[in-house]
Amino acid sequence: MKDHLVKAVADGVRVYAAVTTNLVNEAIRRHDCYPVAAAALGRTMTGALLLAANLKNREALTITFDGHGPLGKVTADATPEGFVRGAVGNPHVDLPLNSKGKIDVGGGVGTNGMVTVTRFTGLKNPITGSVAITDGEIADDLTKYLFVSEQTPSSVGLGVLINTDLSCLAAGGFIIQPLPDATDEVIDKLEANLKKVNSVSHMVEQGLDAKGIIAEVLQGFDVDYLTTTDLAFRCPCSKERISEVLLSLGQKDLESLIADGHAEVCCHFCNEKYQFTKEELQAIYDKAMANRQKKAQD
Ligand code: ZN
Repeated sequence: MKDHLVKAVADGVRVYAAVTTNLVNEAIRRHDCYPVAAAALGRTMTGALLLAANLKNREALTITFDGHGPLGKVTADATPEGFVRGAVGNPHVDLPLNSKGKIDVGGGVGTNGMVTVTRFTGLKNPITGSVAITDGEIADDLTKYLFVSEQTPSSVGLGVLINTDLSCLAAGGFIIQPLPDATDEVIDKLEANLKKVNSVSHMVEQGLDAKGIIAEVLQGFDVDYLTTTDLAFRCPCSKERISEVLLSLGQKDLESLIADGHAEVCCHFCNEKYQFTKEELQAIYDKAMANRQKKAQD
């Protein structure tokens, strides 16, 4: 099944659901994630895609969990077009299962810090909000963030199932938000549904697509399915962009790279490695010096 996100409305509630198994596997492969990192990053990337689905075209959103746990920072960037990238500080963290027999995402993320969401809306200053992390299990933290920071009551469900070979078996998520005209009866029915549904990762494992997940959580509702968007792991980095970063280095740093004879620069978000030869570094150095001279004259 291809990764995808479906939007739907029903009786005064808005629901988005996503299947993200492939893009979580892409993140595991790129960052060589062990299960705790894979689950934390997979949930955060899925949550970022669900939150970004509400943005306008060309906007973007970043979620950062900084809970001071052994994983370090867990970050994901997503766009409403369905692209996501993400990274985790220490992908090789190994922790025993938690008391429920599950991957200890909360123990990895840590609970001594903040979850921050930044929306890049094209305005000069991005909009940032943050709340203290509650359990570090990602979904409830995002629910709390939406309620406290954006005054939007929501229910977020996220799940990542990791296989014994460290690959992702199933991943997905949903977000439900009552619209202002939702009645108490609708909210009660929704809460009753959420209590009895299977975890979202098991729904995906059983073969349900995003529509199937929505049908499960909205049993008894008259669902109107809206759009379907394909999802993918994608990082906008390129050798050209990395060259721009090198251009901004100080003269001494550039000189030492040239002395080394080559440079390998790794993109933090996707772990793609870019090689620069001595000649390329020299050209960057010359350009940087010319730029600086020009700037000094202006
Ligand atoms: Zn990249």
